[in-house]
Amino acid sequence: MLTDVAATHVGRVRAINEDRYICLSSKLFVVADGMGGHAAGEIASALLISTIQEVLALKLETTLSAEDLAAALRQANQRILDKAAADEACSGMGTTASILYIHEGKGIWAHVGDSRIYCYRQQQLQQVTHDHSFVADLLAQGSITEEEAQHHPQRNLLTRAVGVGVPVQVDTGSIEIEPGDVFLLCTDGLTNMVSKAQIKQILSDEADDRADRLVEAAMLAGGTDNITVIVVEADHV
Ligand code: CA
Repeated sequence: MLTDVAATHVGRVRAINEDRYICLSSKLFVVADGMGGHAAGEIASALLISTIQEVLALKLETTLSAEDLAAALRQANQRILDKAAADEACSGMGTTASILYIHEGKGIWAHVGDSRIYCYRQQQLQQVTHDHSFVADLLAQGSITEEEAQHHPQRNLLTRAVGVGVPVQVDTGSIEIEPGDVFLLCTDGLTNMVSKAQIKQILSDEADDRADRLVEAAMLAGGTDNITVIVVEADHV
């Protein structure tokens, strides 16, 4: 049995919320953080979500594989590229995408960009996905600390996104779910604002307003970006 809650907020600074998310049948969860000039970012993230819904919703009664998720992302990649080619105002747009599919005790995921999937298990918060960003590469090389990464001036520079080129390289994986596991999908409007320790502390509280409280924490810290979170709890597996 799964319970899920989600929240999104434009934040305190930006005029438009370019984040999008979807929760389908308490099985499939997606966050997308659009980028691009004018309102193009929200077009990219909306195209991503509508493609995922169209391609995967009908298949939810069967068992999806990681390859099914990756194929849906590749299809979204092509649609965003086609839209950008047809409409100059959309040129250069793109989006992140983090998908989690939960079925028969397994969490299968697919991911591009710097939105994140976390697993909170036995008081530990583990980042499941790897950020495709310049700063994540610096961190992996040991050139900067985690603290420096969070405030780095180039932290928005992505090394991979959906809708910017062909082919799009998609990371996939799966995780065996244990009873009590809590999954968090979020955009960087949360993780750039709120420390891992604080995220962990909010997730450790077995309350049903955790998504709202995460957004609230990002707002209190400045809310300089759009903030989107989905919290999924596996009560039993
Ligand atoms: Ca963002």
